Amino acid sequence: MIEQNNQFLQNLLISEKLDALLIFGLPNIRYLCGFTGTDGVLLVTANESVFFTDSRYFAQAQTQVSSARVHCYNNKLKAVADELSSDGSMRVGFDADVVSVALLEDLTAIVDDTLTWCSLHHQLQPLRGVKSGDQLVSLKAAADLNHQAFDLILPMIRPGVTEREIALELEFALKRLGGEANAFDFIVASGLRGALPHGVASGKKILEGELLTIDFGTIVNGYHSDETVTLAIGEVDRKLRQIFDIVLEAHDSALAVVKPGMPICDLDAVARDFIMSKGYGEYFGHSLGHGVGLEIHEYPAVSDRSDQKLAEGMVITVEPGIYIPGTGGVRIEDTIVVTTDGFEALTSIPKQFKQLSL
Ligand code: ZN
Ligand code: ZN
Repeated sequence: MIEQNNQFLQNLLISEKLDALLIFGLPNIRYLCGFTGTDGVLLVTANESVFFTDSRYFAQAQTQVSSARVHCYNNKLKAVADELSSDGSMRVGFDADVVSVALLEDLTAIVDDTLTWCSLHHQLQPLRGVKSGDQLVSLKAAADLNHQAFDLILPMIRPGVTEREIALELEFALKRLGGEANAFDFIVASGLRGALPHGVASGKKILEGELLTIDFGTIVNGYHSDETVTLAIGEVDRKLRQIFDIVLEAHDSALAVVKPGMPICDLDAVARDFIMSKGYGEYFGHSLGHGVGLEIHEYPAVSDRSDQKLAEGMVITVEPGIYIPGTGGVRIEDTIVVTTDGFEALTSIPKQFKQLSL
């Protein structure tokens, strides 16, 4: 995998004038060298890659990591410092998203003071932005589990069942089907709680006449799924139906314009402007979506502040919503991959208005 991403990292070494790059973030480590454990550091230079881990993970790393030399340490920072000084490195980049101030202080204290630490944030973020091959297969497999699990639990969604019971049934179904773990704490929000965009499942019972929003996902080979459906529990009033239709149209119109080269802020604007034109702009407070991969939220952010463009192979969510305190809320979310001339949806639960017959 390091070979595959070599160009990105080698370009980064050159553009940031770095002699070495230290990667502490586990998703980046997994992406670059295949290691799935929970502790380790990856050192990348122009000539070689070294993966440092401790005795708990040495055997695992020797099996999983083929693209870097595996070094077993007793003292992580000392091992890294020794390697850096033997390499004669002067400028060392690190992933600022995950390195704490305390860790940076420890690193600074242990290494030669001729070494310069260079914080990398936006420069490193695009590393995992474009997906291909096995990554897309895993993302699709995770999305397929969402659909299968949802179909399995749909019959138990009826008045009197609590949000938490729905979340638990979904979790059981996903894990039975082969999901590795929940992608995040599932959101199951009914009735007035639907106005909470992140309303984690509660003990509230769902009632006839309410909208029910379920946002859930699982993990396959480390890759996440993310999808939101909003259902009507029996007949709902006109206002709820109206906001559902607006959110669905915002979702569909954003998807319709997805293509490589499109400024991401323009994609956000398609959904946002539509919701605003219907008078609900103030009730759509979050961004349109986010990248999905080895992390549930990763590059690229799909927001009005983005200065990036869509590229073929990017996997993003499109998830407009309207949340009205005292009334309820709707969110509709699909995860898609950008293709040569548009997009392909990875998630597949139908998103049109669905009224459960009671
Ligand atoms: Zn979601
Ligand atoms: Zn999402």
